[in-house]
Amino acid sequence: MRRTLYLKFVLAYLIFGLFGFLIVTFFVPRVTRDYLIREKAEDLYAEASLISSTYAGGLYSSETSLENVELQLSVLAVYMNSEIRVINPSGRIVIDTTNQPPVDQVVTIEGFDPAFTTGTYYSIGNFFGSFDREVLTVLAPITTDYSIHGYVVIHADMAHIEQTSNMMLSICYITLVILFLLSLIILIFFTQLVYIPLRRITKAAEQYADGNYHYEFQVDSEDEMGYLAACLQFMSGTIATQEDDQKKFIANVSHDFRSPLTSIRGYLEAMLDGTIPPEMHEKYLGVVLNETDRLTKLTNGLLTLNNLNTKGMRLELSDFDINQVIRDVAASFEGTCRKKNIAIELRLTGEDLFVTADKSRIQQVLYNLTDNAIKFSNPDSVIKIETNIQKNKLFVSVKDSGIGIPKEDIGQIWTRFYKSDLSRGKDKKGTGLGLSIVKEIIAAHGENINVISTPGEGSEFIFSLPFAPEDDF
Ligand code: ADP
Repeated sequence: MRRTLYLKFVLAYLIFGLFGFLIVTFFVPRVTRDYLIREKAEDLYAEASLISSTYAGGLYSSETSLENVELQLSVLAVYMNSEIRVINPSGRIVIDTTNQPPVDQVVTIEGFDPAFTTGTYYSIGNFFGSFDREVLTVLAPITTDYSIHGYVVIHADMAHIEQTSNMMLSICYITLVILFLLSLIILIFFTQLVYIPLRRITKAAEQYADGNYHYEFQVDSEDEMGYLAACLQFMSGTIATQEDDQKKFIANVSHDFRSPLTSIRGYLEAMLDGTIPPEMHEKYLGVVLNETDRLTKLTNGLLTLNNLNTKGMRLELSDFDINQVIRDVAASFEGTCRKKNIAIELRLTGEDLFVTADKSRIQQVLYNLTDNAIKFSNPDSVIKIETNIQKNKLFVSVKDSGIGIPKEDIGQIWTRFYKSDLSRGKDKKGTGLGLSIVKEIIAAHGENINVISTPGEGSEFIFSLPFAPEDDF
């Protein structure tokens, strides 16, 4: 079996991890670094502006001494972890909180251009070569009376920003690893709840496809997987039963065909080799004819059953008078009844009684039931056929006072080929198909048939039929 689904899921999991890693490696550092620089630059710029308008301004208006301003800026620089400079427009460093030039020495920043931040309020670099490392620089002019006297320049070491950025990146990596491990839970859930049951179901489906319908498997969950497994098991169970039924059916058919054929062959051979003398031929030919009758009946029964399929049976529904159909069926048995001195008594409700059903199939039901009633009745008895209405439903009953059906057989009489032991003596030609045909026809109409029987006293078969809509008459 190919394990593609699992591989796909694991692959998706790995892709998830890989993308997470790529994002954390390439995207997060840039965004965090930019953010930290911007934040820091904003803070420094605000500070620079404040210094330029306070201490530094005082320096140029000679309100505060150089030493005083230098001291205050040094304290601030330590506090802000940065270097603060006051630079003249020419580039001369007036104050530098880290390397304060001696009073008698002029230290100038070569090429100083206050417009170096072009467009933003900060820049990153070595500030005109005055640093041997990268620094973040912000600059605020010191103005009085609309003229610029100098600049407050604050430098922050980029190494600090990089350090913070790296620390945040480490946090991201740790979070990613935790998330990756946590999402393993999803993989485990998928394996337990979907993949393993699915493999069992697939394996079972393969077994069923190979015809092993008795293969058993277990999926305990009560979710869609469990339902799917239960449906599959139910389906295989049904197919298995059908297969068993079919085997039984074929065994029965073969058996029922073989016995008349064996006896026909036996009689014919005996006639041919002279075991049965010519003067007896007529008698035994009669027996042979009887056997062929049985075969014909069996074939017809099988054909009818084959055409009847409860789900697929096509009924030709019409509205007809059931009373009339009963009268006709009873009349067709007149000859048989006379031979056994049996009377058929009709107790019909009303003159006519219209039902909606397949007329020829219902005729067959009545025929089979009446035929059985006569077959299993004792001579000189009465068979009653009744129609009556109960609770707005029409019931037809065929009742005899014959041999009856033993309790243990009642459940089986509807099964194909079933013949009770009691009946075998009375009915040698029986095929055991009559009642299964009856049952299927009634079921196809969506109606019911029942039997009440007492051995030695008789049987009554009762089935229901749907009334025809009253508007039709
Ligand atoms: P068959 O064609 O052999 O009569 P059925 O399917 O019609 O087959 O009947 C099956 C079995 O049910 C019969 O063999 C008999 O044992 C029993 N049976 C059916 N109808 C009656 C009846 N009216 N009285 C007693 N037994 C009956």
